[in-house]
Amino acid sequence: MTAALDLLDLDPSLSEEERQIRDVVRQLVDDRVRPHVADWYEDGKVPARELAREFGKLGLLGMHLTGYGCAGASAVAYGLACQELEAGDSGLRSLVSVQGSLAMYAIWRYGSEEQKQRWLPSMATGEAIGCFGLTEPDHGSDPASMATRARRDGDDWVLTGGKMWITNAPIADVAVIWARTDEGVRGFAVPMDTPGVTAREIRRKMSLRASVTGEIVLDDVRLPADAQLPEAVGLKAPLSCLTEARYGIVWGAVGAARDCLETTVAYATSRTQFGRPLAGFQLTQAKLADMAVELVKGQLLALHLGRLADARRLRPEQVSVGKLNNVREALAIARQCRTILGANGVSGEYPVMRHANNLESVLTYEGTSEIHQLVIGQRLTGLSAFA
Ligand SMILES: Cc1cc2nc3c(=O)[nH]c(=O)nc-3n(C[C@H](O)[C@H](O)[C@H](O)COP(=O)(O)OP(=O)(O)OC[C@H]3O[C@@H](n4cnc5c(N)ncnc54)[C@H](O)[C@@H]3O)c2cc1C
Repeated sequence: MTAALDLLDLDPSLSEEERQIRDVVRQLVDDRVRPHVADWYEDGKVPARELAREFGKLGLLGMHLTGYGCAGASAVAYGLACQELEAGDSGLRSLVSVQGSLAMYAIWRYGSEEQKQRWLPSMATGEAIGCFGLTEPDHGSDPASMATRARRDGDDWVLTGGKMWITNAPIADVAVIWARTDEGVRGFAVPMDTPGVTAREIRRKMSLRASVTGEIVLDDVRLPADAQLPEAVGLKAPLSCLTEARYGIVWGAVGAARDCLETTVAYATSRTQFGRPLAGFQLTQAKLADMAVELVKGQLLALHLGRLADARRLRPEQVSVGKLNNVREALAIARQCRTILGANGVSGEYPVMRHANNLESVLTYEGTSEIHQLVIGQRLTGLSAFA
């Protein structure tokens, strides 16, 4: 980040190690992502497997987990990595979030020792890709109503149903699938080459085009008993995974906003209209100042939540505060930046419209803004207004 954008001098409040991790990821994004991401986005094709291996080499996959080849980094360090990745593109942060905070975390937190040994080391290196199937075609914000069923047949489980809008599904080696059983919701580590599993890519996305998204069909998928995640009991298990991933989004969204604002300050200082730089107009400076204030507030919030997480004191509704605020403000910043770039704002030559379009997905996934408002509202009032 340019020094001028760090209005509150947050940089010195990071440890030396945190700054080092951030700088390494920033360099990776500069070298490996920025030169290509506009093409990946335009083509709707991203070399996700190749990138996953590069991210794995740097220890970014399951970075905040311990053991099984995971880096065991702090929550703040993981957040900083998410911020840098999403400054490149929300799709790449999604790749890392889904792999580490959803698929790997579910296995790490709720899996058997055998499941951990089987999947986590290869997922940490990026050799194996994971996905997380909770959303269904007819059940998004309300996963408690899920229709996917898992029934016992002898020692085996048989899964039937479908999952929709699943990041990484078409390229995944393993899917963590949540299904209803006679005893309530349970999780399963499903190898994607199991007979009866098919994954189809969702096309014509206008957002997160540098991310692979798919539908998973489960047609009488027979799994051995040991595919079930033994410690995952009830819906609170997948919801706890979502809290992990939402935490990364709190940081990531700020990265996308920062990239928009940096681009826009540079543009506005170099483009001249009416005989002076755009940045010299008071109306432009008012926009820039308001955006910079929201950016630093978002960074402060992310850092505060990160410090709470490292102290093991972070609560889910606090993550909702961060996700609601930072994604909403990042999207507002991206849209405002776009106005300052004028016609160039709609061009893929600049990252601003790409970030804005991406943030539309980020606003919706991992709990929509409305769902986070309901979480916070419940905390404030003691009343559940979900249904
Ligand atoms: C690019 C992308 C990637 C995704 N990746 C994954 C993934 O990897 N794994 C996964 O499981 N899912 C994934 N999702 C799905 C995502 O989590 C859901 O889209 C999200 O939970 C919302 O569900 P829905 O789209 O069915 O919307 P709905 O639940 O139908 O909601 C539609 C609208 O109604 C509002 N609404 C719903 N209920 C209420 C209520 N009680 N009160 C007020 N308003 C309400 C919502 O806030 C929203 O504005 C992804 C989505 C996208 C776009």
